[in-house]
Amino acid sequence: MALPERIFLTGFSFTGKSTVGRLVARELGWRHVDTDDAVEALAGKPVVRIFEEDGEAWFRNLETRALEDAARDSRVVISTGGGAPVADENRRVFASGLVVCLDARPETILRRMDEAGERGSERPLLAAPDPLGRIAALATERAPYYALADATVRTDALTTAEVADAVIRAWRQLGPRLQPDASRLAWPEPQGFAGAACVVRAVSASYPVFVGQGELERLGERMRGLGLAGRAFVISDDVVFALHGAATLAALRRAGFETESFTFPAGEASKRLETVERAYDWLVSRRADRADAIVALGGGVVGDLAGFVAATYLRGMALVQVPTSLLAMVDASIGGKVAVDHREGKNLIGAFYQPRLVVQDVRLLATLPERSLREGFAEVIKHGFIRDPAMLDELEGHAEALLAAEPDITADIVARNVRIKADIVSRDERDTGLRAILNYGHTLGHAIEAATGYSSVLHGEAIAVGMMAAAELGERIGLTPPHVRERQRALLLRFGLPVRLSGVSVGAVMDAITLDKKVAAKRLRWVLLRELGQPVLRSDVPADVVQNVIASLVV
Ligand code: NAD
Repeated sequence: MALPERIFLTGFSFTGKSTVGRLVARELGWRHVDTDDAVEALAGKPVVRIFEEDGEAWFRNLETRALEDAARDSRVVISTGGGAPVADENRRVFASGLVVCLDARPETILRRMDEAGERGSERPLLAAPDPLGRIAALATERAPYYALADATVRTDALTTAEVADAVIRAWRQLGPRLQPDASRLAWPEPQGFAGAACVVRAVSASYPVFVGQGELERLGERMRGLGLAGRAFVISDDVVFALHGAATLAALRRAGFETESFTFPAGEASKRLETVERAYDWLVSRRADRADAIVALGGGVVGDLAGFVAATYLRGMALVQVPTSLLAMVDASIGGKVAVDHREGKNLIGAFYQPRLVVQDVRLLATLPERSLREGFAEVIKHGFIRDPAMLDELEGHAEALLAAEPDITADIVARNVRIKADIVSRDERDTGLRAILNYGHTLGHAIEAATGYSSVLHGEAIAVGMMAAAELGERIGLTPPHVRERQRALLLRFGLPVRLSGVSVGAVMDAITLDKKVAAKRLRWVLLRELGQPVLRSDVPADVVQNVIASLVV
């Protein structure tokens, strides 16, 4: 069998990945890529400044892009960053070649670090008062991922030339037997995760997201599969519960759960502390305890409110999200942001609290009012523009079927969006860096919602206009190519979403924009597109350009 035409070198910093990579490439007559160098080229600044200014999550995002770019070539040796094997998508790229891990004891790493005079200045993750302890802790954390490599070379007692020879020997010996299959490097999933559309791997918790037709019927089984055993406390709104409550309770009882249910009037106006308090009263009266689970059955309002109740009652009960609107499926149910509104603003009281499980049954979308379904597509289209340009072709090709909620294509598109959201929140659970790209269209969108009192314009509709503003702003400052705005406009219209608004005061929108919580240090921060799928954060858009663009979209 042919030998693989890519070699990936993984392992901790100072195990010699860059030098060895160069030597191996020279010996084989291949190209060598160091992903840290490629990341610096993409960002236009050193790694240490990316960490300082944009955060680790943003660095990881660029690292994956650098890795994917490098692996498009064959006959290439790729030296990867120390944390690269932790991310699933990176390991999927690794599966296209041979993976060799270079290993060294923490003491060796520290000695090499001192010899290079680098302690912390160049390796932000290693800057710590007790570097040996820090190295050992990080190495333990990453060890299970390094262990997935096809071969490991212990470098403590070897020269770099000897390590390079060992890598080439491994390539000749193991290469012919390699399966170019991502499962070779797959992380073994915990019980109950099998068959999930994706897994969210946040720092605080990992959980599966199931997407499909008839998933509601399997809700109880899925909960059992994850070891949930107490009673199931279903929280819903009156509209959703009337339509899907009975099927939900039946599915839970079939799996042996005792059930209780609580409903409140549908709509954003219920998403406040008074409703939370009523839910607490209900839980107290039923003597709910921490072995029980809260099941949030509904749209984003239910998910946010029930999630907040689960996060706070008894300092945290198990939470299961069963989103029933498209917006809640592709967005609100994933990522652990739970909140209620305050009279001064939306989502002001909340927490980060991850569910144990998310179950999405696309058949439930059949009862969703048409305007709500269309609204959900604003977030779907947003995901395409910031992260998955290939999905835009699918949306263009299947708009009618999707707007009719045809289950097959809907399940595909929902699963694809869930993966995008899950991937982003897995890398930036606490919204300190990368997660900001999900705010594409939201700077103006939130302001429109605030200026219109969260009533006449739906969230997704406001986001659609906000995305148009972002594209237009990007174009005016010479960043976004015109084809991006044109394609976005056509697609939003295709899904019946607005691309401008009338009857809204520009002054009120401008006021709301400057009050929004996304205004960091009084400078408006915009997510703009350099190209399809390439978001950037910009705080330097001139105020007069913002004013002009808004005036052209809000009349
Ligand atoms: P929603 O929950 O109010 O649902 C919209 C309407 O559709 C409601 O009347 C509801 O009863 C009805 N509905 C839902 N599913 C139905 C179904 N299958 N059949 C018939 N009717 C159905 O609103 P939403 O649009 O789902 O979510 C908006 C909320 O989500 C906002 O409060 C927003 O702040 C929040 N949100 C949260 C996050 C997050 O990360 N936590 C992200 C985005 C939005």
